Amino acid sequence: MVRSLSVLGATGSIGASTLDLVRRNRADWRVVALTANSSVLDLARLAHEFSAELAVVADEAQLPALREALAGSGIAVAGGAQAVVEAAARGADVTVAAIVGCAGLAPTMAAIEQGGIIALANKEALVSAGEVMTAAVTRYGATLLPIDSEHNAIFQCLSGNDLDHVRSITLTASGGPFRDWSAERLSAATPAEAVRHPNWDMGAKISVDSATMFNKGLELIEAHYLFPVGLDRLRIIVHPQSVVHSMVEYRDGSTLAQLGPSDMRVPIASALAWPARMDTPCAPLDLAAIGELTFRAPDEERFPATRLARQAAEAGGAIPAVLNAANEVAVAAFLAGQIAFTRIAAQVDHVLGCFAPAPPASLADVLAVDAEARARTRELAASA
Ligand code: NAD
Ligand code: MG
Repeated sequence: MVRSLSVLGATGSIGASTLDLVRRNRADWRVVALTANSSVLDLARLAHEFSAELAVVADEAQLPALREALAGSGIAVAGGAQAVVEAAARGADVTVAAIVGCAGLAPTMAAIEQGGIIALANKEALVSAGEVMTAAVTRYGATLLPIDSEHNAIFQCLSGNDLDHVRSITLTASGGPFRDWSAERLSAATPAEAVRHPNWDMGAKISVDSATMFNKGLELIEAHYLFPVGLDRLRIIVHPQSVVHSMVEYRDGSTLAQLGPSDMRVPIASALAWPARMDTPCAPLDLAAIGELTFRAPDEERFPATRLARQAAEAGGAIPAVLNAANEVAVAAFLAGQIAFTRIAAQVDHVLGCFAPAPPASLADVLAVDAEARARTRELAASA
């Protein structure tokens, strides 16, 4: 049976992995909408290749270039942030939410309102809108399938089991490129060093998040909304090999783990085929070649991000949205060479300490908190 698919953030790392799987199973999919921020030539090439019905560029200034690139193709084009939301609102059997940052929130919510399957990579959207998004999933009868590798692992380990029987859930973390660096060396880390992840090939923002451990902090909050077992049951362990993608421990002492290669096509395939399975071209896991799997406790002195995220999750309401927005702005400032690596967590901590908006009741409330937290962090970055 042919299923329809939209990819929000089609030109990114997750978008490319998703479309690689679709390319290998072309007859199974009809592509509805592909979106990108500004890379129109890549977007046009993908829209052609996959005979998309619609291609949308978020940066409206790029619309004429997109129109020209797709002239005569019969593929509809549109531009602007609202057009991305409208593309998501067309609905599809499966929508892959792979925009980076809170910019993906409104489109993801629009897809949820159509009630299909949302394969979620865009963790910042769920972190910012936690309760608002999970309530919408229930109200519109949508199915939220995580493709973040840890959450996809947990989802698989929970399959067929009751959350009431869970004793703990442990998210594994590679520890990022700086896991063995001293505090002193960390303060001089450059953007080029931060985006060079040892195990995974990812977009720039999530690579910096892996280096600060904010990625794991955001994932802790993501897990809290996806798998509501209580924050005291959510743990983090550093596992440098990134082979065990996460674990669920049950009350009887059984721990189930999901293992696989460090290739996002594995969790993406699990969501695309769910509840069935599909082939991937990924090399099979060769444990004898890997030899050793090691684990250690995270160091929250050098990497305070996971502690800040846990505090934000405990506070709940709008605080995770503040944490996320402050981090997005601080990461952008670091990548632009404006602030030191260790200032990212310091700025997030500072903004969390001085700004406590009321719990959001709607998407508009979340977006307002996000905008204000961004403005506050920018002021801080400018005065640093
Ligand atoms: P990326 O930077 O490679 O791609 C981001 C995509 O979003 C691009 O298509 C870009 O054009 C689009 N985009 C960026 N800003 C936008 C905006 N303002 N409006 C509309 N579109 C915009 O990022 P990525 O690594 O593919 O990550 C995407 C999401 O998936 C992130 O939330 C990330 O945390 C999550 N994720 C990624 C990986 C990975 O391996 N790359 C793993 C787990 C989770
Ligand atoms: Mg992850």
